[in-house]
Amino acid sequence: MPAAHCCQCALPFAGVTNSSHLCGRCIKESPAYTNVFTVGLYEQTLRQAIHQFKFNQKVGLDRPLGQLMAQSIASDLDIDLIIPVPLHRKRLQERSYNQALLLAREISRIKKIPLEIDLLQKQKETASQQGLSAREREQNLQNAFVVAGGVKAKTVLLVDDVMTTGATVAACSKELKGAGAAAIHVVVIGRAAI
Ligand SMILES: [Zn+2]
Repeated sequence: MPAAHCCQCALPFAGVTNSSHLCGRCIKESPAYTNVFTVGLYEQTLRQAIHQFKFNQKVGLDRPLGQLMAQSIASDLDIDLIIPVPLHRKRLQERSYNQALLLAREISRIKKIPLEIDLLQKQKETASQQGLSAREREQNLQNAFVVAGGVKAKTVLLVDDVMTTGATVAACSKELKGAGAAAIHVVVIGRAAI
């Protein structure tokens, strides 16, 4: 991760040396999650690896990528549950696997923290987020996720592969927080610099 980034959403800052501050977007509307752990920026080698993993059926990459993600998480953090960002079942049928779930499973194995697969569900089939503005992404995901189980007073680790505007993890975190989660931390492989 570059030294200078937002301490909540991990947005990298260009040409700034002081890393311990919030970006404009997080100041304006604070996301429901506490912070984001990331292996690195969504570029170059990391971007290629994620593409192989996500679109070219290179599912074996869940091991090394999951390991890097586990290493990026603060070791003194007390996490109760690991929850992957869910796919809608139709999308799951098309793709045959949920990449976030594979990564979450690996992190759960390494960190010895329980994995909850069905606790967070995607109930609404949404249009692709690609090409949408931050505001449009947010609207697209409104009421898309639902919590189907107990998260009250739990500290949750939410797992996804890539974070671009952060609309997806923000929408998931909002639901988890609404259902009573004590805190939500996010971990992704790559953080896009947008
Ligand atoms: Zn931020």
